[in-house]
Amino acid sequence: MSSNTANVLYLIPIVTFILALRFLSNPAHARRGNQIGAAGMLVAIVVTWIRAGGGSWWVLVIGMLIGGGFGAVAARKVKMTAMPQMVALFNGVGGGAAALIALAELHRLLPPPGRPHIDVLIAIALSGLIGAISFAGSMVAFAKLQELIGGRPITYPGQNIGNIVALVVLVAFAVALSAGVQDQWLLWLVVGGGALFGVLFVLPIGGADMPVVISLLNAFTGLAVAIGGFELENNVLIVAGMLVGASGTLLTLLMGRAMNRSLGNLLFGAFGKVTVEAAAVAAGDGGTVRSASAEDVAVMLAYAHKVVFVPGYGLAVAQAQHDVRQLADLLEAKGVEVSYAIHPVAGRMPGHMNVLLAEANVPYPQLKEMDDANPEFSRTDVAVVVGANDVVNPDARSNQGSPIYGMPILNVDDAQAVVVLKRSMNPGFAGIENPLFYNPKTVMLFGDAKASIDQLIADVKPL
Ligand code: NDP
Repeated sequence: MSSNTANVLYLIPIVTFILALRFLSNPAHARRGNQIGAAGMLVAIVVTWIRAGGGSWWVLVIGMLIGGGFGAVAARKVKMTAMPQMVALFNGVGGGAAALIALAELHRLLPPPGRPHIDVLIAIALSGLIGAISFAGSMVAFAKLQELIGGRPITYPGQNIGNIVALVVLVAFAVALSAGVQDQWLLWLVVGGGALFGVLFVLPIGGADMPVVISLLNAFTGLAVAIGGFELENNVLIVAGMLVGASGTLLTLLMGRAMNRSLGNLLFGAFGKVTVEAAAVAAGDGGTVRSASAEDVAVMLAYAHKVVFVPGYGLAVAQAQHDVRQLADLLEAKGVEVSYAIHPVAGRMPGHMNVLLAEANVPYPQLKEMDDANPEFSRTDVAVVVGANDVVNPDARSNQGSPIYGMPILNVDDAQAVVVLKRSMNPGFAGIENPLFYNPKTVMLFGDAKASIDQLIADVKPL
């Protein structure tokens, strides 16, 4: 197949990738988006295979069976709460592939007389370096989230300076490679050093900040893959890489903004460490906490006009999404207006709550983003906080000393009454006290969210 024919055919996957992103932006069409993207990828693989001269089809088929089989089993088996580490793993594999392509390409072009052009050498050096950083960083992120290593930030004196020096040295090696020092060992040094830098870069970041780091590493992978496209003169790789790079960058910035934390603070702030100290300071305050029985809460809900559910990380842990939906249906049947208020960083990954509630087939019009949900709390009778904590912490609005000060929150305390479902008085991700629990409007319903919701269903039914 000629390059021109391949480039025309590549328009199919390019269009499907863009369409897939468009569809993924709404939970109602997200599955369709995934399918369209996967179909486009199949076309891209087959066209590339034929363009490269084909060869034995069984090699292609076996490769796709191994890769596709692993992906399908992982996607089916992995729990929703373990999704961030799976994304880390997949992302790392992409970065590693870009680094391997760089090594293979240099190996193919050397030794002389095949003297590679400078732009190809720059592409090889950059994709090797960035791909290796992304691969190793993602593996550390995976290990932290999977609790194979401790999730706490690992810090030591001079860490940031040391990391900057290491990066400068690596970039110098990459420049030497691009300038024509064409030894294969130099690229091995760039790739090996990049992998070491990836480890050092992620170690000081706390386990709970990993979703943001993974999103940033995702942007790195996209960049490495796009540069790999220049190496291989493959347009579909360039476009796909840039789409991943751009969406990873935007997602990182959006997550940072939703937490009101700069990228610098996320990457170099060792947040987990700060918050342990903050928790110790906040622990003294206290106040009176009112705990209620499921029966009391059932009465509040059944006789309310408007109830808003506010899901958080605890909903994912308890896997209570189907139960919440059942309770909501029951309340609606009794004439109660029900909606769900979704904070952009509730849970542990972007869109975590949307995915869970979509799994329970919650009608999309009932899902309200933060900006739409907040004005509604003042006319809400009961806000039911299901395993959320930081995203409803009023300290973010008023306590300048709080580590989450400035983070936009869901203003549940504007509702007439607040019910908080959680197991204990333990803090959430930020590790800090939540004054909402001491607010006279608030009652706590202690217990696993799934068990509490099931009890509420049983108690609301006869009312
Ligand atoms: P939090 O982590 O603040 O709180 C979750 C609460 O759920 C805990 O207080 C816990 O209390 C409770 N919980 C845990 N298990 C259960 C259970 N089985 N049943 C009932 N309750 C349970 O979650 P939020 O969703 O409010 O906030 C998310 C946090 O994560 C934010 O600080 C955000 O910045 C951060 N984050 C989010 C990312 C994202 O992309 N979404 C990325 C990175 C960080 P108890 O143990 O007492 O039950």
